[in-house]
Amino acid sequence: MKKIEIIKGDITKLKVDAIVNAANESLLGGGGVDGAIHRAAGPKLLEECRRLNGCKTGDAKITKGYNLKAKYVIHTVGPIWRGGDQNEDSLLKSCYSRSLEIALENNINTIAFPAISTGVYGFPFERASKIAVDTVKTFLSENENIDKVIFVLFSQVDYNSFLEVKGK
Ligand code: ADP
Repeated sequence: MKKIEIIKGDITKLKVDAIVNAANESLLGGGGVDGAIHRAAGPKLLEECRRLNGCKTGDAKITKGYNLKAKYVIHTVGPIWRGGDQNEDSLLKSCYSRSLEIALENNINTIAFPAISTGVYGFPFERASKIAVDTVKTFLSENENIDKVIFVLFSQVDYNSFLEVKGK
């Protein structure tokens, strides 16, 4: 799977066609990776997000990247972890597949994902990583047009854990 890359770092710094934001349903900004993306993109990002009327959990919407090096931001809303029997797995899977579908529709070839739902939303990290890797692998095997998917892990611990899961 040469098309998948795993790096440790800050997703806001990447020069790719699109970075994915782990947003909330309002799309009006939050903490974590969402806050970092809005700070780096500048106030015009929030202006465009205001016109989108929010986004449902498991779905995704696209905006321009403004001051980011990435041309686009794909905002997806991960599920809040509520113990595992509230459809969390399929909603998280949907975040990855909807983001990739939107990437295809916009001729995006390179895309970077953070570990959606694993911060404030509390999704168990290993379980989320496995869903992320499986969903992206399946999508890439069915669609030729995406050249590169980068998983960006923010901490060393997450990076190590993600590598472990991918290897399994
Ligand atoms: P959620 O609400 O979906 O859980 P968070 O932003 O709280 O979203 O966390 C999602 C993941 O993004 C966490 O693993 C967190 O460590 C990571 N993260 C936070 N800031 C950045 C960043 N600048 N680049 C990449 N990942 C980040």
